[in-house]
Amino acid sequence: MTENPGPLDTAIALLRSARRIAVLSGAGLSKASGIPTYREADGLWMQQGALKFSHADDLQRDPAGFTRFWAERLAAVEAAEPNPGHLALAELQRLRPATRLITQNVDGLLTRAGGLDVLELHGSLRRWRCDHCGNRHGPWPLHRCLRCGSHARPDVVMFGEMLNPGVLLDAQMAAEEADVFLLVGSTAIVYPAADLPLASLAKGGRLITLDVAPLHLDASAAVVLRGAAELLLPRLLVGIRD
Ligand code: ZN
Repeated sequence: MTENPGPLDTAIALLRSARRIAVLSGAGLSKASGIPTYREADGLWMQQGALKFSHADDLQRDPAGFTRFWAERLAAVEAAEPNPGHLALAELQRLRPATRLITQNVDGLLTRAGGLDVLELHGSLRRWRCDHCGNRHGPWPLHRCLRCGSHARPDVVMFGEMLNPGVLLDAQMAAEEADVFLLVGSTAIVYPAADLPLASLAKGGRLITLDVAPLHLDASAAVVLRGAAELLLPRLLVGIRD
């Protein structure tokens, strides 16, 4: 007697048979690590003072306030630990080397979990760079560039700024080449995250959505996994490893 496979088994089978996998993660992946969501109503940007320091111009207006604000954000991220969801994605990449990890998160937790060449669409709080000469520092907050003395800032994409075109291109390619695209903890409504699952689908990729709440992309998904990333991703990995 055979049972109909559940969504988890179907997702495991898809991932096991995939030649190339792309994973796009959002705030839902880091929630269990205590990282506040980034741009949502209750998130980082809306906390007290956040909007004052979310444009790159704010660095010139109030350098001390700007640095203090972002240094506090960095401290929160550094105090957090990767959760089982981050660790499972890094393990997926070890088991299936043709896996690209793309994230909207700026917390660096996927990299700290062991993820390689993580494509950070919105940059990282763990890198700081000089606003003038581009000299890179980190992961520590810096008021002044060690080379030219200008103000330093976190290497995150702020409001009104362009995304890094190289990172964006790599993410687009990873999406188009993927047989299986796994969307984790991201509503994928905002550009460019919104385009990546669609780019994969347009090239014949199969979509797996994993989130606590329904997504508009569920309708296009081969498999819908409903639940928390830190619980479901480790269960996926057990199935892929066996
Ligand atoms: Zn400099």
